[in-house]
Amino acid sequence: MMAELIPVLTQNDINTLVAATARRISSDYQDHDLVLIGVLKGAFVFIADLVRHLSIPVEIDFIRVLSYGSGVSSSRNIQLTKDIETDIKNKDVLIIEDIVDTGLTLKYLIDYLKTYHPKTVRVCTLIDKHERREVDIEIDYICHTVAEGFLVGYGLDYDENYRYLPGVYHFQL
Ligand code: 5GP
Repeated sequence: MMAELIPVLTQNDINTLVAATARRISSDYQDHDLVLIGVLKGAFVFIADLVRHLSIPVEIDFIRVLSYGSGVSSSRNIQLTKDIETDIKNKDVLIIEDIVDTGLTLKYLIDYLKTYHPKTVRVCTLIDKHERREVDIEIDYICHTVAEGFLVGYGLDYDENYRYLPGVYHFQL
């Protein structure tokens, strides 16, 4: 069976959206000690582009959680497999996510990072996907919103494939 990839965002679309989001972040966090925490692996492309559009200094770190395994449906079982290495106490933290689906991963991450006593914890995501949201979480920066579907490309994978694609696509088996 051939998988079908239906374009959602081109490289050009993404560039425009990421630049606009970076401008907002740069203006909101002027004169703050901002730490961006990228959620691996999916957010590695997004955070790399985002930081190069910022006009303020930031620290960058990564955290890794496993929530999906290799399928397309969310797992209730969230496992932290790589912690941050930066001292975020009294600093402003911005979590950088690729996509928010049920919201369970984000809820877990916010609660976890708060145990380090940062000054603030906010969230920035490339894609906000509504259909299956289960927890009420506030997302402060959203580049693009979709209702449903499974997306790949620009860091997002299906079974570790497609992360390298410069655009975002709807994946259909
Ligand atoms: P949540 O906990 O919000 O349900 O899921 C968050 C994580 O599930 C994301 O960080 C991402 O790794 C994965 N995920 C959710 N929806 C999609 C999707 O449409 N495509 C891909 N590739 N991963 C997704």
